[in-house]
Amino acid sequence: MTSPLEDILSQNVLITTVDKVANWARESALWPFTFGLACCAIEMMAVGSPRYDLDRFGAGVFRATPRQADLMIVAGTVTLKMAECIKRLYDQMAEPRYVISMGSCATHGGPYWQYGYHVLKGVDRVIPVDIYTPGCPPRPEALIEGILKLQEKIRTA
Ligand code: SF4
Repeated sequence: MTSPLEDILSQNVLITTVDKVANWARESALWPFTFGLACCAIEMMAVGSPRYDLDRFGAGVFRATPRQADLMIVAGTVTLKMAECIKRLYDQMAEPRYVISMGSCATHGGPYWQYGYHVLKGVDRVIPVDIYTPGCPPRPEALIEGILKLQEKIRTA
């Protein structure tokens, strides 16, 4: 038998850790970096449109500067020249920061994996990747699933 005070407390007081609250806030307000490299970027732009409405998941406000972003969606072919810029931009992002590798080009070179002498065979060779979204290009729904997986990863970190 619980006391009336215990009843009131159990219904109105939520006990958690600071980390859980911080992770909940992080997963609920992701700030993607406006960053498209090739054809996959068209699908990424579609995700921000009213049809797919990324705002439903708290990640719809793309920022044009790495300093205001905590999510880099690498959407497209990463050339060797661009790889250096990607690393520099990643280093300028706010921490904690997250990366989604969108499409086969970003993940392992895509159609250029064998003879693309100018293409990096996976962006994870220069920056850490949290989620890989398969496809050439991945449909907007696939990118949304990747964002949901990332939120799950942040929540359970
Ligand atoms: S994975 Fe396919 S769609 Fe995406 S950038 Fe490479 S070639 Fe283009």
